[in-house]
Parts: sequence; structure tokens; C-alpha cells
Amino acid sequence: MSPFDPSRWPERLPARYWLADAHVPAALLATPAPGRVAILVEGGRVAAVEPHAPGGAATFDLDGATIFSAFVNAHTHLDKGDLLAAGLAPERDLMAAVTAVRDDYANWSEDELRTRIGFALRTVHAHGTRALNTYCDWAEPDGPLAWRVLRDLRREWTGRVDLVLTALAGLEEFADPARAQTIARRVAEGGGALGPFVYPGAPVDLLPRVFDLAERFDLALDFHVDEHLDPPVANLPHVLRLARQRGWGARTVCGHVCVLGVLAPAERDRILDHVAQAGVGLDSLPYTNLYLQDSGVQHDRPHHRRMPVRRGLLPVHEARGRGIALAFASDNHRDPFFPGGDLDPLQALALAACAAHLDDPAEHWADTITTGAARLLRLPWDGVLRPGAPADLVIQPGRRSAEGIARPAGGRQVIRGGQRLAGADATPPDFRQLDGLRPRAR
Ligand SMILES: [Zn+2]
Repeated sequence: MSPFDPSRWPERLPARYWLADAHVPAALLATPAPGRVAILVEGGRVAAVEPHAPGGAATFDLDGATIFSAFVNAHTHLDKGDLLAAGLAPERDLMAAVTAVRDDYANWSEDELRTRIGFALRTVHAHGTRALNTYCDWAEPDGPLAWRVLRDLRREWTGRVDLVLTALAGLEEFADPARAQTIARRVAEGGGALGPFVYPGAPVDLLPRVFDLAERFDLALDFHVDEHLDPPVANLPHVLRLARQRGWGARTVCGHVCVLGVLAPAERDRILDHVAQAGVGLDSLPYTNLYLQDSGVQHDRPHHRRMPVRRGLLPVHEARGRGIALAFASDNHRDPFFPGGDLDPLQALALAACAAHLDDPAEHWADTITTGAARLLRLPWDGVLRPGAPADLVIQPGRRSAEGIARPAGGRQVIRGGQRLAGADATPPDFRQLDGLRPRAR
């Protein structure tokens, strides 16, 4: 029988204890160690990382189970989450989903937003997520109701799930200088980032104004850009050129850029070189990109189905080979953009492992949902398990990628501030709690 048996651990862990014989992905250690390690937790923090537990404190044998630092989800849309529970339908097409959600804004009450977003926060907390970035649709200069609700929830959840808020505004929202300035000011007042949606045909001549505002109001930029599979690449090069000219690359992230995945290799490599030179980070969103790209939807034949052929993922191997900062994230959950998803970064990594053919994903790509994502979001703690770091950990029973990716959510133990989550905190909430959402008229 394995000595790893969390059911025999005490309900309350002692103030000082070792987690021994653990596998920790190299990116999460200050000094990568061959083989297994032991982590000393004391007073809610990591106190030491050693090859073996020397005793002198309670010792819990992990028998090779994997320790991650608590997850960071770099790209989510909590304002839209669980709209399917209110009766909206999945659209299988990006712009159709955008329209379906916009048409539903009028139904978003404060009560409903708190219910849907609160459900999401309890879910991600149970999964072991310590921080996430959520976009908030922004179609009016002074900011939507959802922004105010998200700010309130950010305050209520600080220390459990730290929220990064990013205003997602279509690029056309920046056409009027006064309106654009109001958006930037409101976002800055809310401690958020600016997230222009640069869709096909977007007015890219407005991008210099976006960078002007970012500089003036000291805002990070987090774009949705080139989320399609129709070359040539129309928008990303403009963002890269400006990020480089303005020296804003370290504060610029581009999400999706699916079209890079279908370019001829020479063109793809040329653009990725520019991404690397600009110092811009990338988000890859396997759930929505697989679901929405090349989905075979024909609007004149809504019931006709065709097998998707292209994957819609940005070329992550080529990006990584150039040292580009990269995160896998979950993107939409249970809304018109994607009918499933549970905001679990490890499940997103498991999907990416298959869709992007990742070698040894839980080892070599663990940074994309922990340390790398934390750096993209410029979080105070980068997620490296060094002495003094918070003891915010996810223990996953899998000893190697094959086991971890086979059962990403199974048997997970979440430790926050040195203590295991227990009871309702340790379990994602029941979907039935969403049954009270006001059903939409169809
Ligand atoms: Zn998104």
C-alpha cells in the first residue's frame, strides 16, 4: 500500500511539516533538482526545499505525487460564464457568440452577476487556483455593471483567488478620443488592464491611441487578436510594432492569434521572431480555439455538420523555442463561446497536451499554468517554491505526466497558506445552484 494516503492526514495540518518524496516540476524550483524533493512548510509558508526530509517535524510521504504551486489562469471571461444555464445556446462561431452575448447584456442584473461569478470563484478556488485574469466586456465608456461587481468580488476574494481585471473593448470603442480617454481613466481607477478586441477588419489605425492611453494611464495591455484561421495576418504585426516602438512589450499580452498556426512556416517564423523581439507574451486557449475555429458552421445550413480539420491553436512549440512567454488558459466556460469547461488550468493543459502534442506536459509545460502565467499577469509571487513563498500548493496524485494528464482533477489536494482546503471549499459547487438564474425568453 502506498504511503501517500491523504485520507489519513489529520484534519488540521500542524504548523510545521514536511511534504516528502514529492515530484516538483523543474520550473517551480529555484534550483532544479534531479529526482524527488521534500518541502518544509512552516507558518503557512515554504521554509525549505531539500532532497530529503530530515525529520524533526511531522512528515507526510507523497510517494512521488506531484506538487504544483497553486494555479494561475491567465485568460477567463467570468462576466459571461454560465450563460448557458440561463438558456443561451452555444454558437460554434466567434462573432455569432459575441453577438449573442451582447444581445443578452440587458438581462445582466447585479444579482445574477454575483451568482454566476461567485459560482466560478468557488469553483476555481476548489480546483487550486490562486489568481486569475478575467476580461469584462466593455461597451460603454463609464464601464458596465459587471465591472463594478467584479471589483467588489475582487475585494471580497483577495487572498483566496486574486483577480486581475481586464476591460475587453472592441477597438472601435477608441475611435472618439474623449470616449477612449474615459475608458482608460475608468480602467485605471479600477486597477485594471486594457484589453482591446482586435477582430478581423478592426480599425488598426486606432492602435497608436491605445498605446498612448496605456502609457498615460500606466495600463498593461492584453489583446484578443487574430482569433481566426484566414491568412494573411492582419492585426498582430501592428500590435508588435507598437509594443516594440513604445517599449511596452513586457506589459503586452496577445491572446489567441490562431492564424499563426496556419501560416506558411517562413511567414510564421518571421512573425514569431517579432513577438520575441518585442517581448510580448502569448495566451493559448485550447478549449475555445478548438471549438470555435474551423467548426464547420454554415449559417445558411445551421443543421449541416462537417468534420473540423484545422486546430486553431497558435504554434506553441515554435513560440517556446524562441523563449516567448506563454500561458495555456481556459477562456470561456459554459457560455455561447464554449458549452463546457470548468476553469481548471490543469484540464486545459491536459487538452493542450493532446491538441498540441506536448511532450511530458506536467513537467515541461507546468510553467504555463503556474510561474509563466504569473509572470504574464505580473503577480507579486511568481509561483516558484523557494523559502519564504506562500505554501499555496496543489498536490496531484500523478507521479508523472501520463498519470497526471490521465486524471487531471482526480484526488487533488489543495493547500492554501499551509492548510488543506476541506469541506465545501474543497469541492466545486453543484451546478444545481445555478437553477435560479432567470431564464431568457427564446
Ligand atoms: Zn478570451
